[in-house]
Amino acid sequence: MSTIIYPSPIFGPVHSRRLGISLGINLMPADGKICTFDCIYCECGFNEDHRTKTPHPTRERIAEALEAKLKEMQQDNIHPDVLTFAGNGEPTSHPHFAEIIDDTIRLRNKYCPQAKISVLSNSTFIHRPKIHEALSKIDNNILKLDTINTEYINKVDRPTQPSYDVHRIIADIKAFNGQAIIQTMFLKGTTEDGYDVNNTTEKFVAPWLEVVKEIGPREVMIYTIDRETPDQHLQKATHEELDAIRDRVIALGIPCTASY
Ligand code: SF4
Repeated sequence: MSTIIYPSPIFGPVHSRRLGISLGINLMPADGKICTFDCIYCECGFNEDHRTKTPHPTRERIAEALEAKLKEMQQDNIHPDVLTFAGNGEPTSHPHFAEIIDDTIRLRNKYCPQAKISVLSNSTFIHRPKIHEALSKIDNNILKLDTINTEYINKVDRPTQPSYDVHRIIADIKAFNGQAIIQTMFLKGTTEDGYDVNNTTEKFVAPWLEVVKEIGPREVMIYTIDRETPDQHLQKATHEELDAIRDRVIALGIPCTASY
């Protein structure tokens, strides 16, 4: 098993029990990864091992490829449940992310009006008005918030921008006024240099829950590692640990799902 670099700009569709039929939209080049985080659990590998040599796919290329795929799926009588922006990096870092969202909404309405549009983002650009506005137009605005502990973020999510400030990110998520979905990775084990990354403990869960309550998202999705990770010392959180955290979120009156 190894880490994955996804085809670009379209991949799938993939069928999952949780999402149904999901067509992936990858705004990064096909030869590597571009992200403002460098998570030690990233299924695409470490940033330094996957530097890109080719540019981002253009807005036009993405719209053409998406339309061709949606037409083909329509002819084959396959109806996507969701169009998911994910792949090799941070989708909102594409210089034309906002325009690409407009194109995707137009194509979704034309070919598969029942499909939802989801964006998986690490939240680092949501302070930009254009990105905030684009994410406000889609169905599932899924924003990563793994913890509120700065030391842990620097060890595990490893933001590449020195200006990263989790308190500003929390304020930016709040600015969606309950429209955001928070996504949080829970894991155990250590970093390669021995730092304990277990964020299922009370030290991490209690302050995270406080912030979740303060933000008041539409939903919370918690999950754990599922594929090979670039850091080999990580371990999955258990079903019981995830279920216990999920139940505490639900007790706040916020819907929450756990994926194992
Ligand atoms: S934010 Fe996502 S794409 Fe970026 S490094 Fe982390 S897991 Fe990988």
